[in-house]
Parts: sequence; structure tokens; C-alpha cells
Amino acid sequence: MTNRSVDLRSDTVTQPTPGMRAAMQAAPLGDDVFAGDPSVNALQEKIAAMLGFEAALFVPTGTQSNLCAVLSHCQRGDEYIVGQMAHAYRWEGGGAAVFGSVQPQPLNHQADGSLSLTDIEAAIKPDDAHFARSRLLALENTLGGKLLPLAYVQAATALVKASGLNRHLDGARLFNAAVAQAAQTGSDARTEARRIAQCFDSVSVCFSKGLGAPIGSALCGSKAFIARAHRIRKMAGGGMRQAGGLAAAASYALDHHIDRLADDHALASRLADGLAGIEGLQVEAPQTNILFVDLTGAAKSQSAALLKHLGDHGVQATGLYRLRFVTHLDVDAAGADHAVAVIRQFFNS
Ligand SMILES: *Cc1c(COP(=O)(O)O)cnc(C)c1O
Repeated sequence: MTNRSVDLRSDTVTQPTPGMRAAMQAAPLGDDVFAGDPSVNALQEKIAAMLGFEAALFVPTGTQSNLCAVLSHCQRGDEYIVGQMAHAYRWEGGGAAVFGSVQPQPLNHQADGSLSLTDIEAAIKPDDAHFARSRLLALENTLGGKLLPLAYVQAATALVKASGLNRHLDGARLFNAAVAQAAQTGSDARTEARRIAQCFDSVSVCFSKGLGAPIGSALCGSKAFIARAHRIRKMAGGGMRQAGGLAAAASYALDHHIDRLADDHALASRLADGLAGIEGLQVEAPQTNILFVDLTGAAKSQSAALLKHLGDHGVQATGLYRLRFVTHLDVDAAGADHAVAVIRQFFNS
């Protein structure tokens, strides 16, 4: 076995490519708090136009983007409907409740990652002084690497709209969803990204995940919505000054790194195929760039030893009994094959 190393912990671990670094270096800069950074302005216009919104706001993280979104849609004492496993509920420190007094109404996911329409409908509260005001549905796509079916997204967002709720998409990996959806429809990823985004009143997109930029997300919505989000971003300390270099990296990613997400999806499948049939491993077929592998039966007790073996052989992943492998810009076929070989060696010995 080679002494190669491969980092499959997350698609956030990528290094900017030489082309991206050159774009960052060349970016014209200004003070974005005075709305005077041409590179930030250009990025905001580009992503808004791409997804079909009036305006966009560049923010340092996806967490801040979701926070600005929920607090712009909701007032104190309002409620947002969200999945139990959604990043905006589970992995963001409860920020909407802490900073906005906005109460989450979490729902369990179905096997395909969706929230059932029946559950959503039942969670919308009547206008009654006993209840928090149902104000927003927040979906996530992809969720744990799963593509929500477009027909479902259309039905869920139409359902809540009819009850007067707003719709927010945590599209940290919107372009992974779009590339996977394009493979199904035969259309192109940009068209599919827009088709998904247009079901929502606001969409958050991460540049720092599969798109391979070092930092940044964008929140898209109407002009009035983005004006409110801008105020929240200021309160959250997210007003950045000469941020154009970071915006230029994100802009470069939109130009060069969308279609190549298909390579990451193919590598996740390659990993899954390589691990198929190992006794003690249950491999979930990946839909995009995230692969989950459960340890079953006796293999469960070997979890710590397996993780040590992986670490000793340069393979980084997360999880304990449910391992997560994420493919990205800095993983190639040789890296994926190395991970497979290391895992196979463990179970053969
Ligand atoms: C990564 C991620 C975010 C935002 O994460 P940050 O680390 O704050 O940029 C939000 N939602 C989802 C689904 C994510 O995967």
C-alpha cells in the first residue's frame, strides 16, 4: 500500500487552486461596509442573477447566512418549521432562538431526507394566542448528501405558501443538488439550480463547500429582504471591509467549479463500489458527494481500531459507528482507491 493521504472529512478542506488564487490576487478592492467593494458587488449581482433573485448578500459563513435569513423572515415569537437533522436547526448552536427569539418547530425526516407534507401541514399553527406564529419553512438541499426530489420541493413550498408562510432554502450544497438533478433530467446544472431556487423566497449558498472557495456564502432574496438581512449581518459582526479577494474566489468557483462537482459524485460512487461486500459494513448508495457507511454486527466493536488504522494510513473521515466520507476538489481516483485499500486491508487482517 502507498503512503498516500486523503482527507475525506468534509468538502470544506480544499485549498484554493492556482487559478482561484490568481483571481483573488487580481481582484479590485474597496470598503464593502460603504458598499464600495467592486468584487463583492459583482459577486452579489452574479449569484442573484444566476438563481433568479433581485439581490444577494455576501456573508462569511453559511451559519451567518441562515441566521440572517431566519431573522429577516421572522419576528420574536414566530416559529420556523425545519428538519431535525437540518444544519440550520441542529448544527448552528440554536442561533435563531438565541439571537432572534424565533422558535424552531423541528420535524422528523423521511428516509429520502424530506419532511412529509402531512407533518408540515399539521405543524402549521392556527392564528391563536396559544401558539407561536408559524412564519417560515426551511428546507435543506442536499441534506446529508441526498437530493430532495424536485416534485417534492415544489409541493412542500406550494403547500406552505398557501398558508402564508415564507420559504427558505439552506442550499449550502445547492450546486451538488443541481448537478445530480441535471444528470436525471438531461438539463444543465445552472438551469436546475435556478429551478430549485425559484421555489423559495430566500436561498443560502456556500462557496466554501464543494465549490472550493476558502470562505463565504451568499444569501439571495428580494431587495427588501436583503435590506433586512444586511442589518442583521451588521449586528452579527459580519460587515467585512476589503472582502473582494474572497468574493473573487467565490466568483471564480461559480465560473469554473460547478460542472466538475459531477467528478466528486462519481468518486463517492467509486468509494461506495470499492467498499461493497465487506462483511460488517453497510454502504449507503451516495446520491452526490457524501457517502455514509455503517458498521454493523461485530464490526461495531472494532470501530476505534478501524479509525486508528485509517489515521495510521493517512485516511481522514468523520464518525464512529456511522462513518462519513466526503469527496471534493482535492480528492482524485487514486485517493479514493487508497481509502478503499486501507479499509479492505483492515477487514482482511
Ligand atoms: C456547512 C453548512 C452550512 C454552513 O456552515 P458554515 O461552516 O457556517 O459555513 C449550512 N448548512 C449546511 C447544510 C452546511 O453543510
